[in-house]
Amino acid sequence: MELSTTHYVFHYKKNSLAEKEIDQIADIQEGCYTFISGCLHADAKGRIHYHLFDTPQEVGKQYAIIHDEDDDEPCNGFALPETMSRDGTNHVYAVYSETIKCIGFHEDAHIISYSICRPDSRFISEGLAMFFDRYWWGIDNYSWTKWYIEQGKNPSVVDLLENSHFREYDCELTYPLAGAFTGYLIERFGTEKYVEFYKRCADRTAQALEQTFGISAFLLEKDFLGYMKVFDLREDIRGLMIKEFQVI
Ligand SMILES: [Zn+2]
Repeated sequence: MELSTTHYVFHYKKNSLAEKEIDQIADIQEGCYTFISGCLHADAKGRIHYHLFDTPQEVGKQYAIIHDEDDDEPCNGFALPETMSRDGTNHVYAVYSETIKCIGFHEDAHIISYSICRPDSRFISEGLAMFFDRYWWGIDNYSWTKWYIEQGKNPSVVDLLENSHFREYDCELTYPLAGAFTGYLIERFGTEKYVEFYKRCADRTAQALEQTFGISAFLLEKDFLGYMKVFDLREDIRGLMIKEFQVI
């Protein structure tokens, strides 16, 4: 089944939860699109095709088929930007079930921002998607970062700009940290300046930072960590991290 809206075409199965809630899903995505597009002054090339499935197994299978891989590991969602198929150019594959609703900002932020530039650094591309998401497992990016700093677990931002370092750590650490650093850049220097930086991000990210903001990546990291020190981590959030997520 299919539903077309201003910026999307939703594909879903008959009698699925997605079918039942498709108007609500469409409203959420159109809201996300308007916000991302307004912030970045950018648009996706053509409508985004959203393929909704009931289970992570089905989405994982799609990933394996598309990427020609034997291993079809379960997966909640992924974006396939600027890849022409008979449907269109941009695609998102996502689970929509009672327990997993993989919709919202993240994949759309990847797709819309790729029309500006496709950064080599995953810390930068995931950082922008996480800036729009704001939360990881229901806790905001700054609280996660604050927590990792308190625990002495935060890796250097300058190191994480390199994908070889980014891959060394779990995404529950790298993603919120990248989102917090992106939030810091946008709040400190403004969206226009951030977009100027993003346009220079195809490679040599540290140089792009210095060229745009006039401060070396090393000093930006120092300033960012100083900014993080100003905040207190709320006790109830600290408790949540320890008890529910068992993150130590
Ligand atoms: Zn992502």
